[in-house]
Amino acid sequence: MMLEKTIGILGGGQLGKMTALAAQNWDVPLQFLDKSKDFPAGKVCPYFIEGSFQSYDDVLAFGRECDIITIEIESVNTEALHVLEKEGKTVHPAPAILDIIKDKGLQKKFYAEHDIPTSPFELTGAKDDILKRITEGKITFPFVQKARSGGYDGKGVAVIKTKEDLHKLLDADSVIEELVDIKKELGVIVARNPSGETAVYPTVEMVFSEEANLVEYLISPATITEEEERKARELAITVIENFKVSGLLAVEMFLTHDGEVMVNEVAPRPHNSGHHTIDACVTSQYEQLIRAVSDAPLGSTEMTSSAIMLNLLGEPGHTGKAFYEGFEDCIALPGVKIHIYGKEITKPFRKMGHITIVDDNPKTLREKARFVKENLKVITKDK
Ligand code: ADP
Repeated sequence: MMLEKTIGILGGGQLGKMTALAAQNWDVPLQFLDKSKDFPAGKVCPYFIEGSFQSYDDVLAFGRECDIITIEIESVNTEALHVLEKEGKTVHPAPAILDIIKDKGLQKKFYAEHDIPTSPFELTGAKDDILKRITEGKITFPFVQKARSGGYDGKGVAVIKTKEDLHKLLDADSVIEELVDIKKELGVIVARNPSGETAVYPTVEMVFSEEANLVEYLISPATITEEEERKARELAITVIENFKVSGLLAVEMFLTHDGEVMVNEVAPRPHNSGHHTIDACVTSQYEQLIRAVSDAPLGSTEMTSSAIMLNLLGEPGHTGKAFYEGFEDCIALPGVKIHIYGKEITKPFRKMGHITIVDDNPKTLREKARFVKENLKVITKDK
């Protein structure tokens, strides 16, 4: 019976907090492992073990006290997860799959071996090896270099258009990919339970700000054709079925100018691109995770409203106790849902919260997003 099984989550950040909030509706026993009870999940879940999810001993001891173990971050100790699995614990995603996904090189090989569309690539050693291959004519400009492990939020990625960009090369074992002619960047969250049931959410589109060259906001459903939407959802299901991941898979995709949809990378956990599901879908990605790892029926992924999601990042130039300027002006607008993670200290660009705006009118939806973007700021008062 699902409500009697303790779910252990490695990582206690904001994704953990939002999972704990979803689990509380059903009083599902949940516990977390992360460095400090002061982290976001510790604020809403009293069962919080202080330790490191990268430590073999800590993960093993933590997992032995749980029935089901899952993650909210990939960089966990998978060696301990393999042992827990052998000892009969339920671990989602399976540690062997997590080992593949954690390494961008193995991940790309997996796509190639399973005929999953992805950009052409080759695996290389570090900087010297890449330079040598360029001299030999085996790698040609332009290309994208990705460190095989350790990168996140675009760190660990270098776009090399000409030889003038070579100073940007990272010194790490890498995946070298062809530069894709991207029309849109899409994300699809898909869930699967161990019985093999799958449920896919409507596609999310990352909208970039031209000046800042940063994701400005996420919008769902994406502004793409029905055919492109169908392709994206089908691809997400193909990917999760090939990996046989139980739990969630966030599939990041590129839509090309030729109308092709290909996989960029995946994350086997709740994801930033699914935050809006709390306020804009019948079942949030967090509730879906609980259902999926418990092998329970999956919930409806239908949208109750169109939505825009904005990350609330620490304002540049402000480090210290966080203060949320403009909060009341923003919640005064209908459909503006602010989520504050509860991190005491703000730093430039630190993810401090997010805002989902729900509104079925495309014009007012965007207007409210612009208002929130201009008026809600995470600052320090005592600067
Ligand atoms: P991270 O895991 O750090 O988020 P990604 O693989 O998502 O790294 O790459 C970050 C960004 O770099 C993508 O969102 C996309 O804008 C760009 N990018 C990545 N791979 C390619 C590619 N092959 N061609 C063109 N742009 C790419």
